[in-house]
Amino acid sequence: MPRLSQPSRPEPSAPAQHGELAFIERIRRAASSGRTNPAIRLGIGDDAAILRPKPGEELIVTTDFSLEGRHFTRDRHAPQSIGHRTLARGLSDIAAMGARPLAAFLSLALPKSLARDPAWLDAFLEGFISLAHTARVSLAGGDTSESPSDHILADITLLGATPYGTALRRSTARPGDHLYCTGWLGGAAAELDATLNHSGATHPTASASVSPNPHPHFFPTPRLTLGQQLRQRKLASAAMDLSDGLSTDLTHLCHASRVAAEIELARLPLHPLAAARTHEQALDFALNGGEDYELLFTTKPRTKLPRTLAGIPLTRIGTILAPRRNQPTLTQVAADGTRSPLEPHGWEHLR
Ligand SMILES: [Mg+2]
Repeated sequence: MPRLSQPSRPEPSAPAQHGELAFIERIRRAASSGRTNPAIRLGIGDDAAILRPKPGEELIVTTDFSLEGRHFTRDRHAPQSIGHRTLARGLSDIAAMGARPLAAFLSLALPKSLARDPAWLDAFLEGFISLAHTARVSLAGGDTSESPSDHILADITLLGATPYGTALRRSTARPGDHLYCTGWLGGAAAELDATLNHSGATHPTASASVSPNPHPHFFPTPRLTLGQQLRQRKLASAAMDLSDGLSTDLTHLCHASRVAAEIELARLPLHPLAAARTHEQALDFALNGGEDYELLFTTKPRTKLPRTLAGIPLTRIGTILAPRRNQPTLTQVAADGTRSPLEPHGWEHLR
C-alpha cells in the first residue's frame, strides 16, 4: 500500500469514499486541520517530511507499538480512545525527556473489515488529532497497510526537541536525591479493572480536561508542559515516565543510574479511582498497575520544588540510595515503618 508521504493521485477507478487512496486522504485531511507545528517545513505529501528544529536544539525520538489484544481491545476501547492512547504513549516519552513535541508519524495496519469502514478510521483520527492539537504536535507522515491478521496494529514515532545537552535522562539520579512523582497513581489500572470485571462499565469516547483525569486509562494525559518546566527550571536530576508501573519503572531508573531506592507507601498519591478500592488493591494498582503516564523524577536534596507544576501536584514518594551488595534494588516502607523488598511487578497490559 502507498505510504502516507506519497502524493495522493485520485484515480477514476477509486471513488472518493472507498479504497486506500480515500483512506489516506482522510488521514491527510485530519492531519492538516488545525495549526501546523512551525518546525514542520514539509509534512504529508512528499516522499519524506522535512523538519527544522530551532538553532541549538537536538532531536528527541521515540517509537511505540499499540497492538490490539495487547494494549487495547476493539470491544472495550472506542476508536477515539485507541487513537488518543496511540499518540499519548509516544508523547509521554517526549514529556519524560523534558522535550517539546514537533511531529508524529503514524503507521497503521487495519484488518480488511476496518480498512473499508470510514467511520472507524474517522473516530480513531478524532481521538488522535484532538490530542495532537492539545500537544501542538503535527501528524507529518506515516504508512498504511491492510493487516494480514484480524488485528489492528498502530505504530507511533514521535519527534521532539530540546536545547543541546539539556534533555532529562533516567541515568543521572544520585544517592541522596529525593524521589517524586507527578499527579496520581493507580487510576489507569483501576479504570481498566472496572472495565474488564464489571459489566455495565462505560467505554468513554472523549477526554475530559479536569484533574484528576476521570478516564486515566482510556484518555491518559501526557505531562508535556510539566516535563518541559522540570527541564527549563533545572528542577530534576533524572526523570522517566510511568508507563509500566512504578515498581518496574523505578527499577529501570535505578539500574540506569546504578542506584537503589526506597518508597514510602503512605506517601503514594492514589488516584480517586484507585483510592475507592481496598487499601491493598489501591497499593497494587499504584505500584504495579502501569499506564498512568505520570512522570517519575528525582531532585538534588537542596532543590526547592514547588507543590505543583503546570497545575499538577508533585509528591515526594521516596529517596534514592546507594546500591549495596545483597540488598534489594527497591525497598518499600509501610506506614508503620516496616521495611521489605519491593519486586518489579509492572502490569503486563491485557495479558
Ligand atoms: Mg518511557
